Amino acid sequence: MASKTLSSFLLQNLTELREQGLYNTIDPLESPNGPVIRMKGREFVNLSSNNYLGLATDKRLVDAAVQATIRFGVGSGAVRTINGTLTLHVELEEKLAAFKGTEAAVAFQSGFNCNMAAISAVMGAGDAILSDELNHASIIDGCRLTKAKVIRYGHSDMADLRAKAKEARESGAFEKIMVITDGVFSMDGDIAKLPEIVDIAEAYDLITYVDDAHGSGVLGGGAGTVKHFGLSDRIDFQIGTLSKAVGVVGGYVAGTQEVVDWLKARSRPFLFSTSLPPGTVAACIAAIDIMQGSKELQERLWENAAYLQKGLKALGFSTGHTATPITPCLIGDEEKTQRFSARLYEEGIYAKAIVFPTVPKGTGRVRNMPTAEHTTEMLDRALAAYEKVGRELGMIR
Ligand SMILES: *Cc1c(COP(=O)(O)O)cnc(C)c1O
Repeated sequence: MASKTLSSFLLQNLTELREQGLYNTIDPLESPNGPVIRMKGREFVNLSSNNYLGLATDKRLVDAAVQATIRFGVGSGAVRTINGTLTLHVELEEKLAAFKGTEAAVAFQSGFNCNMAAISAVMGAGDAILSDELNHASIIDGCRLTKAKVIRYGHSDMADLRAKAKEARESGAFEKIMVITDGVFSMDGDIAKLPEIVDIAEAYDLITYVDDAHGSGVLGGGAGTVKHFGLSDRIDFQIGTLSKAVGVVGGYVAGTQEVVDWLKARSRPFLFSTSLPPGTVAACIAAIDIMQGSKELQERLWENAAYLQKGLKALGFSTGHTATPITPCLIGDEEKTQRFSARLYEEGIYAKAIVFPTVPKGTGRVRNMPTAEHTTEMLDRALAAYEKVGRELGMIR
């Protein structure tokens, strides 16, 4: 018997969501998450995955996962600190550190988990965290796990960050102060102003923390946003995910040996949650080897992104201020954005509408995620659909 208070809570809230058209129905894929996907028996050009380099279906990763699974089994059997650390985990962490250009790295079960792990391992009562207002949900939750005071600053507003950093430091109220930012912001595709953030951090003795989930594998020859700006030895915490460009699942924190030693001693997901399975780790190692061996996939990704962005602009759409392959097509009105995305779906293009409250009111957009695997023909199909639907809805002429 369900509790009465739970039943009425669920009924009321689910009804509300459905009435507002905010209840998300999920269509399962009947295919791999490649550049073309199959759902409900139909094929779509896929512009919604984070599989930037196409590695999620790469045969070299699949083979590595299969071989490691045959050799070591499907599970690691324990948390890292008991005996769930395989030599494979150590190898992955050494490769990640070399790839990022840091002294050390430590792997976690997801990018989300990295933020659960790392922020609360160093920040606590008497500390303050300066956080960009558009930071990812996992950063917000990671901050909530601490007793530190969280101070939000305007999105990439460096004057605001400087003023709040100065005020926090000069108040004398806080011992440690951290500044946290996404490396690449996933809704607009803009890049954090890391050179200025580092200058401000050095002026006010801030700990620097960059969650580079969308930058890793994409910017800086694949090493990420921090490398892109040449700041590898001036950022304390670099978070990366193994589930976007790397194509598998997991996350990591890269930094000095001391940072990593401390996370291995104190971060809760490392201590209390079973480590990544052997097949996953082996696939991630293969992905890092591929990214270090050749820039071909990154080049194709950027070429495809440039092609799509140029095509959308030529049709008369705005892609906002993206500086990365993330390609928003700005529509504005929430309802119109939903309708636009639904019409693209009917035309065989899978690109998600992103609206309030995920982005500010009136800035609805259809977000496109081109990958290295898309062909020009696929992108042309998408652009033709954008043209047709854009005309239909009176957005372009
Ligand atoms: C996607 C994302 C995450 C979560 O990464 P997962 O590996 O999918 O858990 C964390 N932070 C940011 C900024 C992200 O974009």
